[in-house]
Amino acid sequence: MSLSRDQLEARLQYPLGDALPEAGRALPVAPGVKWVRMGLPFALDHINLWLLRDRLDGREGWTVVDCCIAREETRAQWEQVFANELDGLPVLRVIVTHMHPDHIGLAQWLCERWDCRLWISSTDYLMARLGSQTTTGFGGEAAAAFFASHGLNDPESVAKVRARANYYPSLVPGVPAQSRRLLDGLVVTIGGHGWRCISGYGHAPEHMALWCEALGVLISGDMILPRISTNVSVYDQEPEADALTLFLDSIDKFLPLPEDTLVLPSHGRPFRGLHERIRQLHEHHAERLAEVMAACREKPCSANDVLPVLFPRALDLHQTTFAMGEAVAHLHRLWHAGALQRSRDDQGVWRFKAA
Ligand SMILES: [Zn+2]
Repeated sequence: MSLSRDQLEARLQYPLGDALPEAGRALPVAPGVKWVRMGLPFALDHINLWLLRDRLDGREGWTVVDCCIAREETRAQWEQVFANELDGLPVLRVIVTHMHPDHIGLAQWLCERWDCRLWISSTDYLMARLGSQTTTGFGGEAAAAFFASHGLNDPESVAKVRARANYYPSLVPGVPAQSRRLLDGLVVTIGGHGWRCISGYGHAPEHMALWCEALGVLISGDMILPRISTNVSVYDQEPEADALTLFLDSIDKFLPLPEDTLVLPSHGRPFRGLHERIRQLHEHHAERLAEVMAACREKPCSANDVLPVLFPRALDLHQTTFAMGEAVAHLHRLWHAGALQRSRDDQGVWRFKAA
């Protein structure tokens, strides 16, 4: 019998308790590190952003980590943060952990507002540039064909996915024309301390977490979240991807960090218990994989067939597309490992059965 979310969460420590930053304000979490929290109009209703006191090219100021989505309310909230929390100093650079809209949406606006540089991995930079241009954006025809090939082929769902071609650019209308490249292992000096970039795969193309040994702080982005499990999906641009294996291998890169590391996640509250959380995430996916394997022993399953196995609750279309990506990721880990075989049925749908 697996433990509930509450029971698992009880094994983590939250040094700030239930305290949350107010809208337009920040909460100090470590020397020179402040926590900003902004609302999102999604099921996942908030994102955490970070202000790091900095000095760059001889100027005093701040580095911002992650941006929130592009919309009027968010820009207004940022203006309040600028007025309340920067001690009259400028933003000197914008670091983005990965290309998802809640992280990069306002990067262009922030960089223009402060005449500063975006720092990001090259892969995520290029994907964000591509995705923000409507003609080549994500979703639409290619996504509809991909989901149909995994069994989401009723005409209503196909039509709805097709119609969503504008989703990414609606949240990320633009990305700066220039950037500075973050690479795995690169140490970025921020506020006199070294912050080491740790690349992660399986959630975004090339996610960058930042670890400061001197402060004992890890900005984990979406790679390590305290309560919910990170979305790990296969997308139409890379239809055979083994995203779950990439993700599980990536989170193990955080194991050498000290157990008492203060983890600053993009969603939820800052916590301690990094190693425990990594163990929980492995266990969570091992259980899901066992359920998927059992279903595929009963009969050859498409990703759409295993949705009720992985997600017993009712899902709307937006949640269904996320869930489909997750289902394919679980099937693909078993398929790439040789535990499942796949073949296409006469409807063109991939079906997976025990090897
Ligand atoms: Zn993300």
